[in-house]
Amino acid sequence: MIIHVCKQTSQEQLNQIVELVQQEGVQAHVSHATDRIVVGMIGSVKPDLVERLQQMNGVQSVNKVSKSYKLASREFHPENTVIRIGDVNIGGGELVVMGGPCAVESPQQIDEIARLVKAAGGQVLRGGAFKPRTGPYSFQGVGVEGLIMMAEAGKKHGLLTITEVMTPEYVDICAEYADILQVGTRNMQNFDLLRKLGEIRKPVLLKRGFSATYDELLNAAEYILAGGNPDVMLCERGIRTFESYTRNTLDLSAIPVLQQLSHLPVISDPSHGTGRRELVEPMTRASVAAGADGLIIEMHTDPDNSMTGDGVQSLFPDQFAHLLRQLEQLSPIIGKSFNTPKAPAEQFAVSAQS
Ligand code: PEP
Ligand code: MN
Repeated sequence: MIIHVCKQTSQEQLNQIVELVQQEGVQAHVSHATDRIVVGMIGSVKPDLVERLQQMNGVQSVNKVSKSYKLASREFHPENTVIRIGDVNIGGGELVVMGGPCAVESPQQIDEIARLVKAAGGQVLRGGAFKPRTGPYSFQGVGVEGLIMMAEAGKKHGLLTITEVMTPEYVDICAEYADILQVGTRNMQNFDLLRKLGEIRKPVLLKRGFSATYDELLNAAEYILAGGNPDVMLCERGIRTFESYTRNTLDLSAIPVLQQLSHLPVISDPSHGTGRRELVEPMTRASVAAGADGLIIEMHTDPDNSMTGDGVQSLFPDQFAHLLRQLEQLSPIIGKSFNTPKAPAEQFAVSAQS
């Protein structure tokens, strides 16, 4: 349930409301909207508590939350969540670009790609050390060694890092090396994994299951939030539709819908969302225009020889740099900021062959 409290209410009065809720064994989450204060309640709220709250000074109303998810909902938490990692703010006015290969392959590969991501203006290095592959005989990732390679490359080039975690047992080690943990589309409803991610204090990027509704995605996020980890970002990465020309159908509507239903930052993945290199650039621009708080984009120095099949959707470094320069121009139009370093073009020596 949620309590709407008048904006003018004193801190003392607000504390009394929160204390009363907590005395009844119910959790209270305070959030400040522009026109009111919202106190969200989680737990069994008895009718008697509702009556007592309604009589308190400053309380405007006590209502049920209409959604099955609570902590993830905007009703419960009207202000945007801004996830701060170092000097990068995800969900604020700054556009965040995560770039890198599908998979970490070698120290040289990830170091060179990290250099190029940084030079282009990206803030986060992506790369999978553990890869969820459709078939058991495909390359499964280099494992823990890959976490170490990525952490070193990120540190050397001044980038945050994001990597996928597939099982609860690997959460702690991934959290030790990476700044953000990614839950892949195939694991969106791996509830044991989500519960474990609720226990840590590292931000989580939760990808939408390729057949999941918005409601299911937000309930999956709720598992992490309910466990006590407030730093969750949602990721639209394309859904399965009847169309087979593209690998998935990037659901652009998800961006504004999720931002209306939830306060969590929304990241778009135009790489998996299209599966085609030539579509990554226009769909990145479209995602930013639709209001995405950030992008996660695959980029590789030698996509044709990448160790996962995702080379076909990976940008060449010069394409990645060119795209980020476009984002610099596009962002202010929709009220975001994004700056690229004024680096000479020679930095992106590895270029598109076609
Ligand atoms: C990835 O990011 O490389 C990946 C496997 O993503 P998804 O879970 O969206 O398929
Ligand atoms: Mn991939």
